[in-house]
Amino acid sequence: SEESEWDYADLEADGEGEAHIAVPTLAVVGRPNVGKSTLVNRIIGRREAVVEDIPGVTRDRVSYEANWAGRRFLVQDTGGWEPDAKGLQQAVARQAELAMGTADAILLVVDAVVGATTTDEAVARVLRRSKTPVILVANKVDDGRTESEVAALWSLGLGQPYSVSATHGRGTGDLLDEVLEKLPETPREGIPGGGPRRVALVGKPNVGKSSLLNKLSGDERSVVHNVAGTTVDPVDSIVELGGRPWRFVDTAGLRKRVSHASGAEFYASLRTKSAIEAAEVAILLIDAHEPITEQDLRVLSMVADTGRALVIAFNKWDLVDEDRRLMLDKEVDRDLVRVPWAQRVNISAHTGRAVAKLVPALDTALESWDKRIPTGRLNTWLKEVVAATPPPMRGGRLPRIMFATQASTRPPTFVLFTTGFLEAGYRRFIERRLREEFNFDGSPIRVSVRVRE
Ligand code: GDP
Ligand code: GDP
Repeated sequence: SEESEWDYADLEADGEGEAHIAVPTLAVVGRPNVGKSTLVNRIIGRREAVVEDIPGVTRDRVSYEANWAGRRFLVQDTGGWEPDAKGLQQAVARQAELAMGTADAILLVVDAVVGATTTDEAVARVLRRSKTPVILVANKVDDGRTESEVAALWSLGLGQPYSVSATHGRGTGDLLDEVLEKLPETPREGIPGGGPRRVALVGKPNVGKSSLLNKLSGDERSVVHNVAGTTVDPVDSIVELGGRPWRFVDTAGLRKRVSHASGAEFYASLRTKSAIEAAEVAILLIDAHEPITEQDLRVLSMVADTGRALVIAFNKWDLVDEDRRLMLDKEVDRDLVRVPWAQRVNISAHTGRAVAKLVPALDTALESWDKRIPTGRLNTWLKEVVAATPPPMRGGRLPRIMFATQASTRPPTFVLFTTGFLEAGYRRFIERRLREEFNFDGSPIRVSVRVRE
């Protein structure tokens, strides 16, 4: 049968969910005006500066794709603050801590002409206890005249300072060689308890994705739209929720309004798909005050088929009255039968209602997605279930379930080894009982059967 072709090794590879854009991240930190943005532009290989000389512009943390010597990685520009902001030292230290939690390597940029300031010293103190590799960059070394200033930066206790001129490109090749030395091949993201989890924010146009992202990340992000010369496509956004960083993947499309050119919908759908694939969990936004549409269900299918964890957020709840609520309950019963395990949150990106409930929902979904049931426990349980409710006879014979194992996580995938074919109905029964016993709220699970002759 088709099922017996399921290969154990395939299942393991399938279940990883890591095949897409799993590249490491380099964070660039330092106080304002040391040349971080200029250096980021240099690294990603763009001539035109995205540097804004506009005071008060708060850029948030965005990542850009880079490639050096054939290796791909993301560069995370941790952004600027108002130069006169109070508590600058604290802000830079916080930025460094965030980088320690999210990046695979960190560049601390210091202005070699100015030398180490007390803020530089404070951030170096934070970074000295970093488990993430740190490389010290002495920027604005436009010629050989600053060598003694550079040497003085050894005092920061972060090892050798790398002299560069971000504007001219001097020294950046050597710096990037060192970066590749220090960057691991694979990102730490996705490791439970490691880096930030990857979230795809998906849903049909006008459902409120941009509004929610703005709400979650604070409204300063909208400034980004209006800054002339912001020519580089940000790939992802790092957003802090519940005191932890989360990576919202491919939010570029949310920042720029999607064009209405022909084929735009097709490309938007491709983009949604690749965002889901790059993510570990999706937040599917559905407009609660309008009937659930075919388009909503298409995006839902994409998430379910891709095997990612899922949180369904019914948005625009501020517009939902009692009548609509009753209608919605009916639509949910009819249209969302496919994902009874998905958690639902009723939110308003507009008022902020219940937006805080997204974090526990994401946590639960990811915990389920990562869950592994020990083989012994699984089989003890299975034996009882099968004894109480044996599979139906096939061709006068009772298929025997000999053994079960969880072949992979993300999503949890179980394989039943049997002596005969198991009907889809019985497999669904096993899946239901698995959920009841082990709780996989928010995550799809897969049950497949391997028939042993
Ligand atoms: P950020 O606030 O750390 O992102 O710094 P920017 O990249 O905005 O740079 C601050 C100022 O320093 C800008 O006026 C840049 O043109 C300038 N700058 C950046 N890198 C260099 C460099 O290597 N040499 C010189 N001379 N100026 C630089
Ligand atoms: P996107 O296309 O999914 O990014 O949707 P937008 O964030 O651009 O939102 C589309 C429209 O819906 C905008 O006019 C928003 O102001 C509005 N909107 C978004 N969220 C809410 C909400 O929770 N309540 C209400 N009343 N309007 C909302």
